Amino acid sequence: MDTVIYLDNNATTRVAPEVVDAMRPYFEELYFNPSSVYEPARRVHSAVEKARKTVAKALGGVRSDEILFTGCATESNNAAIFGTVAANPLRKHVITTGVEHPAVYEVGRELERRGFTVDFVPVDDEGRINTVAYVRALRPDTLLVSAMHANNETGVIFPVAEIARLAKQTDPSIIVHTDATQTAGKLPIDLRSELRNVDLLSLSGHKLHAPKGIGVLFQRRGTPCRPFLIGGHQEDGRRAGTENVAYIVGIARAIELAAENHDEDESRIRELRDHLERELVARIPYVHVNGGAAERLSNTLNLAIHFIEGEGMLYQLSAAGICASSGSACTSGSLEPSHVLRAMKVPFTAVHGSVRFSLSRYTTREEVDRVIEVFPQIIDNLRRLSPYWDVAKQAPREKALSMMEQTEMEHV
Ligand code: PLP
Repeated sequence: MDTVIYLDNNATTRVAPEVVDAMRPYFEELYFNPSSVYEPARRVHSAVEKARKTVAKALGGVRSDEILFTGCATESNNAAIFGTVAANPLRKHVITTGVEHPAVYEVGRELERRGFTVDFVPVDDEGRINTVAYVRALRPDTLLVSAMHANNETGVIFPVAEIARLAKQTDPSIIVHTDATQTAGKLPIDLRSELRNVDLLSLSGHKLHAPKGIGVLFQRRGTPCRPFLIGGHQEDGRRAGTENVAYIVGIARAIELAAENHDEDESRIRELRDHLERELVARIPYVHVNGGAAERLSNTLNLAIHFIEGEGMLYQLSAAGICASSGSACTSGSLEPSHVLRAMKVPFTAVHGSVRFSLSRYTTREEVDRVIEVFPQIIDNLRRLSPYWDVAKQAPREKALSMMEQTEMEHV
């Protein structure tokens, strides 16, 4: 494969070589079923339990029986939400936000179809949760609050500790779930102190340099939640199915690595992201950073490029060997504007022209500099073809700016 500049790490990440090394024996000599009784199988079982302890420790020193291994974050989210609903049939009110990943957002829509009242709390123009609307939505009969830790498209971080505290203050039996898929490995997750009011937390291996196809669900002891997959005794009867041993070992090693390197990775990645942001904003006219004024993950840059037909942007980046995304992996490829950017009221002139660059510990300064060199030229070329740009560039700057305020385009 030709060399690529991979800046789509919120979609998936490269598996770390250390993770591959840790997993390899469980494909080769240690392939036994961890439920079997013979000695080599018991060694495999021990590896699973050691991995569970590692993950429990990394999440703030929770109990290892509070950690379930799943197939992905989508499964963890579905299991958390449908499991809570199934275990608590008397309550029919759920709160989530308007910018969740589809693995929560669509579950919310499904609950509505099943007769639940679901409040999708709005965000402001920077993608920050509207706390007043959230507090108003909380009711004594609320069953569940599910709010993501950080947004996959913009990197905007939600104050999950505060969201959870406010829920428990309304009624200690409200169950709080957070989708921490984008924060694991990037932000500290401490379920014993800062996030002590969170009952359920999801994460995914492939966002933190472990493989695709492995997830974690933290389920605080005593949280009423019915099993999602039944038909086996594995995971204490809470998630049936033979354990994906190599991947379980892999996700634990990836979490361990993220913790070991966190401070160094975080400051280096932030510096590179800030450099990319500064230079692109300086070189491209009519651009703004989606969520730029909010607290954001250090690796994510989501740019609204006004007056452009955006699908071409990703293809031209791709032709230059640069991988980026126009939204989350699940929504890019569709011409529907992302529900996240819509919820943030990103103006019509930019909602189709938003691009997300997401960095990782493997991103280099040379790669970022190459994007800074190539991307403004791509925008320039595309704008020449854009009917919106024709209108905008002839308008006085104030008029163009006022067009940028609109959420619907009336001019062209
Ligand atoms: N939640 C968030 C915030 C995500 O970013 C993603 C993946 O993009 C998911 C859930 C789904 O993760 P998985 O691919 O492990 O199902």
